[in-house]
Amino acid sequence: MSPLSFEEFSNANRERCESPQGFKHPLNGWSSSDWMTATVGELGEAANVIKKLNRYRDGVPGNKQSEQELRDQLRKELGDVFVYLDLLCQSCGFNIADAAIEVFNAKSVEIGYPKVL
Ligand SMILES: [Mg+2]
Repeated sequence: MSPLSFEEFSNANRERCESPQGFKHPLNGWSSSDWMTATVGELGEAANVIKKLNRYRDGVPGNKQSEQELRDQLRKELGDVFVYLDLLCQSCGFNIADAAIEVFNAKSVEIGYPKVL
């Protein structure tokens, strides 16, 4: 379990993005379209790693990295997705955790699942 709350992570993520010691990139320096492109770019990188993992699953040659190296890379790429998704949501003016809880609860109610957050 991470010692950080989501809010702490999100605040640090934005601070690094905008800080003169960080990326020097104001959140509103990109449109939501720009942030979405960055997010989907990272998702594409993750998809490419999964494609390579599928080669191991299916016995198809062509990989230059071991299966473990690819699993480690996938973890990092999905982390990249999360970092950009958080910035995208902040640029849109909301917190991704709040949005996720909202839709999680709505779906639980819809399917009759007893737990809401
Ligand atoms: Mg990446």
